Amino acid sequence: MAEATLIDGKAFAVTLRGKVAEGVAKLKADHGVTPGLAVVLVGEDPASQVYVRNKGKQTVEAGMESFEHKLPATTSQAELLALIDSLNKDDKVDGILCQLPVPDQIDGDTIINAIAPEKDVDGFHVINAGKLATGQQGLVPCTPLGCLLLLKDHLGPLSGKSAVVIGRSNIVGKPMAQLLLKESCTVTVAHSRTKDLPAVAREADILVAAVGRPEMVTGDWVKPGATVIDVGINRVDNPETGKTKLVGDVDFASAAQVAGAITPVPGGVGPMTIACLLRNTLEAACLRRGIPTDGIL
Ligand code: NAD
Repeated sequence: MAEATLIDGKAFAVTLRGKVAEGVAKLKADHGVTPGLAVVLVGEDPASQVYVRNKGKQTVEAGMESFEHKLPATTSQAELLALIDSLNKDDKVDGILCQLPVPDQIDGDTIINAIAPEKDVDGFHVINAGKLATGQQGLVPCTPLGCLLLLKDHLGPLSGKSAVVIGRSNIVGKPMAQLLLKESCTVTVAHSRTKDLPAVAREADILVAAVGRPEMVTGDWVKPGATVIDVGINRVDNPETGKTKLVGDVDFASAAQVAGAITPVPGGVGPMTIACLLRNTLEAACLRRGIPTDGIL
């Protein structure tokens, strides 16, 4: 079979960020509003520092205000809650994101649920999760939203398609399944206890892998012609160079022989996450002020 079409998330994210920048300019011109995104980082995890730096840079490039709050690893839960409370009350702040994971003395769920739901641009607050589950308008988690935009761009309407999501985390698997259900797919959520996972995966017209296991999904798990979305970001040793490299949850070489289309790692889902964060911040800025998003988003 011919090689699958590559779904270029990097290029799509550039276009999406450009559209967000246009929306921001329009919001400023028509309503005098500049959206602001506050990112909170507790501790010095190197990967989190890179994410936070990239988020700040891309926020400014989109014409928004970026507020970075870096707190020491010893920060108490009460201190972090006090910061979240002040950001909730700050009119210049439209979106609040607390970079996860947080240190052990802090409960991640408590922090997420302390963020005002209308400023919860990560879409992790129970109110936003509940809105997604019940089909109400709310802020949607960035990574699954990015996957959905890529799927709709590549496939058009998704109605009636069979979708299998591998992984049931609150930040990727579950919201991904909800979004696909909302698009009228027939959705199966598979996980670590699923029996005969390859056979379940082979039923999928749309196969989303969000597991965190390097190259677990091989070509024999893929239905011929299926669209494969690889959310995984795993760092593994590269024996050819003696350094490390990034791989997905999908074994790209074998899956690309069978799939109709596939996202690469890197350059697939990854770049969509920050682009969707910026989109959510623009949406939050509009919704909070009752400004219609037509013509802006
Ligand atoms: P998680 O660890 O919270 O959840 C993993 C899920 O996979 C669990 O629900 C578990 O049941 C399932 N699972 C684990 N082992 C399995 C197995 N052997 N067979 C079937 N299912 C299994 O992870 P997460 O936060 O959802 O992230 C998943 C992957 O996506 C990771 O590689 C992560 O780095 C990546 N990720 C990427 C982005 C991005 O921006 N592209 C964002 C978030 C997460």
